[in-house]
Amino acid sequence: MSITEITSSQQAIDLEKKHGAYNYEPLPVVLKKAKGVFMWDVEGKKYYDFLSAYSAVNQGHCHPAILQAMYKQAENLTLTSRAFYNDVLGQYEEYVTKYFGYDKLLPMNSGAEAVETALKICRKWGYEVKGIPNGEAQIVVVKNNFHGRTISIITFSSSEEARHNFGPYTPGFIEIPYNDVEALEKVLEENKNIAGFLVEPIQGEAGVFVPEDGYLKKTKALCEKHNVLFIADEIQTGFGRTGKKLASDHEEIRPDIITLGKALSGGFYPVSAVLADKEIMDVIQPGEHGSTFGGNPVACAVGIAALKVLKDENLAENAEKMGAFFRKEMEDYIKESKVVKLVRGKGLLNAIVINDSSESSTAWDICMTMKENGLLAKPTHGNIIRFAPPLIINEEQMKACIEIIIKSLKAYEDRMG
Ligand SMILES: *Cc1c(COP(=O)(O)O)cnc(C)c1O
Repeated sequence: MSITEITSSQQAIDLEKKHGAYNYEPLPVVLKKAKGVFMWDVEGKKYYDFLSAYSAVNQGHCHPAILQAMYKQAENLTLTSRAFYNDVLGQYEEYVTKYFGYDKLLPMNSGAEAVETALKICRKWGYEVKGIPNGEAQIVVVKNNFHGRTISIITFSSSEEARHNFGPYTPGFIEIPYNDVEALEKVLEENKNIAGFLVEPIQGEAGVFVPEDGYLKKTKALCEKHNVLFIADEIQTGFGRTGKKLASDHEEIRPDIITLGKALSGGFYPVSAVLADKEIMDVIQPGEHGSTFGGNPVACAVGIAALKVLKDENLAENAEKMGAFFRKEMEDYIKESKVVKLVRGKGLLNAIVINDSSESSTAWDICMTMKENGLLAKPTHGNIIRFAPPLIINEEQMKACIEIIIKSLKAYEDRMG
């Protein structure tokens, strides 16, 4: 069967409903084409993308330089598995480790796999370097985290939906509140078998929750004091999204392990990775961990190209500038708004919190209005909408988007009376 032309959104939605597992509830828009900050649906309506596939398309849709790299590589060699060497992986590993300043990289595909890999490396380091008794290693995680969907990862999710009826769960994780330095200090002092602390520098899925200044620095220092690995999940916050190369850079910390994914490919391909220095990464030896597609030549070529775009186009700087502009304009609006409580975020990872309960459908309804007005965003909870456009967005486009957002919010206010 070849892919035929779908001419109505309803046709595509019906096909998915009929043949696909019902594990997502998308906004009812069927996209067919995208370029830069824009997307088009099958009826030809044009939208601003304000989600960027959960920050996977920081470089803008179908970036020509990444596309060229992908084409060129796909013509020559797509997959060897790691049973053999290929001529791109080493170059990619060199490029990425130099880019972020770490000794070594372990290539995987999805973000969840990168997190799983980091947890495995951390446990092994706990036994073989720190000397934790066999089977006793613990990893500290924080409330309202999002790290992916595997059984081990959902074990420490705070979302009932993500956990319910997927047990039995994986032992070895201790949950503490986010943004709470004392809680980490307490647990590290009480328990000598802790190997690592896993944290998002800004919680994305939780609704763009930015911890207090100093949180990362203080928790990193505590980890150093107690010989515990600080694992930063930068899958969503990395790659310029928050206005710096990594969100960890805002507090000038250097995590022991970093997980990367999403925009590592600019949205072309599932590419993820774990970064660490030799002393940590070397606990993994041949046969102990792997992936058929991890480190494949297409992923590597795409990864190098995607990082080059971030640097060549100064996307972190643009995110910083456009983000500050966005929050300022939104704050001005909020002063006179009854619907929106606050705007928060860093760089171009922002969210508004709506004056309603987290179980309400308000955020969804506002997203529907924004869709009608030509802008696509998605609620993260009933009352929170994340705003995360591609980092290539310019001032004129940003102004147009703010206009659409405010117009949609005002329409909602009017309906409420
Ligand atoms: C998206 C995300 C993941 C999971 O990535 P997948 O590619 O969906 O498996 C993990 N951690 C964070 C912080 C994320 O935002």
